[in-house]
Amino acid sequence: MRQCVYCGDRSSLWSRMCPDCQKLMRRVDELRGKVGFGEFLDGLEQTGVAKQKIMTFLKADPDGQGSVQDQVTAEMTTELMKVMGISGQQTTENVKRIRNSVDKDSK
Ligand SMILES: [Zn+2]
Repeated sequence: MRQCVYCGDRSSLWSRMCPDCQKLMRRVDELRGKVGFGEFLDGLEQTGVAKQKIMTFLKADPDGQGSVQDQVTAEMTTELMKVMGISGQQTTENVKRIRNSVDKDSK
């Protein structure tokens, strides 16, 4: 039996993601670039997946390319900078570094 790469739950043999995470990923694709982070989270909750699992899903980084949360935050920040007339792009790597330093400070 394979495990879901995002939440660690059981997934089917032919998929690296469980049905819940597949549902969440589809929703992420629908919402990203269109809404703010609050609405984004609301949209994910509307899938009916438990909030705990949504958070696990958002923070997972199975490919080492940044978690879904970091990717979406990077996109939203870039979008915001554009609106404010600041050029440049916020990368997933940057968001990760900022979040890590914030985590360290708060401990
Ligand atoms: Zn899963």
